[in-house]
Parts: sequence; C-alpha cells; structure tokens
Amino acid sequence: MGLFDFFKRFKHAAVFPEKDQSQRAPGSMVFTNDLTSPKYWRNDPLIKTRYPLADYPDDIQVLVHEGGRRKTKVQPELMYVRTTGRSGEYFKGTIINEPALLRTLKKGSVIIYKIDTGTKYPIRVFETFIREKKDWEITPCEKCGFTELFDPPSEIIMIKFPDLKPGESIEAMALLCDLCGGLQTITNKNFQ
Ligand SMILES: [Zn+2]
Repeated sequence: MGLFDFFKRFKHAAVFPEKDQSQRAPGSMVFTNDLTSPKYWRNDPLIKTRYPLADYPDDIQVLVHEGGRRKTKVQPELMYVRTTGRSGEYFKGTIINEPALLRTLKKGSVIIYKIDTGTKYPIRVFETFIREKKDWEITPCEKCGFTELFDPPSEIIMIKFPDLKPGESIEAMALLCDLCGGLQTITNKNFQ
C-alpha cells in the first residue's frame, strides 16, 4: 500500500469511523439490569412520568422500524417492548407482541430504544447509528422535532452518494425526516 493510499484510507476513516474495530463489534454496548442502581430504568424520570403502567412497569410502547425510507418500504410499527437493560440514555428490551408489519423482527426479538427523541413514543435505534452518531451534528426535524436518524450516516451516504470514492467525504447534507418527511440536516464533525 503506497503512501497516497494510506492517506486515502485515513481520510475515509474520518468519515466512516471505523478506526477502532473493537467498538464496531456487534453487541458491544454494555447494558446493566442492576435493580439497585440509580440508573435502573424504572427510576428514569422519563419512564416514570410518561409510562406509568403500574402492573407492567417494564413494558412500554416503542415505535420500531427496520431502517429509513431510503432502505426499506416496511413501515415503522408501534410495539410493546419489555425493558431488560440500560446503557446511558439507551435501553434494551424484548418485543412482546407479534408484529403485523415488521419483517425482520418478531415476538422475542431484542432491540435497543431511546426515549428522549423529541417524539411522542420512544424509538428503536440501531447500534451502528449509536456508534456513528458522535461524529455527526444532527439538527432536530423542523416539523416533528425528531432528534435521531433511523439509519447510520455511513449507510445514508452510501445510498445518496454511490459514486463517492474512498477519501472523499460529505461535510453536511439535508435529509428528509424518517418519521414525517420534514427537514433535518446532519453535519460531519470530522470534516477536513
Ligand atoms: Zn419529522
């Protein structure tokens, strides 16, 4: 590999943060289910105030998707999810009813969700999105206030800019909100 190729790879890594392979291993997030921890999900004010299901305190409705409109025609579906762990602002849980629309998920599937997304319901997030999010500034949707994306930015870039070469990067782009079609913009914090 020549020096030029090395720099091309390096710049590419700045856009698609793949330098630390250990962080990209599937299921690398650590979730705690320690009932005595102040971080235990039942103690979260967001859960307490918004989902007061006395008999089933771990079960909440989550808007579950299988990717954004660029990737799939499958519509998001509101599912009941039983929370089983927490990792900072993210929660892990098991889908407890059978989906009618979703194709890759079923009763018993484990997903990650986030509550504070600017929207009425918590929303499923992909772990790949969580890993990439720190490299991007995401403006909330101007119509519905959604603060996240269904897909990781690297996948959106590959779909929107299929001719992009290694070493070329995107500084910022406008996107249609995955929930309502309103306008969101994302800005690459590492753009050089
Ligand atoms: Zn929106």
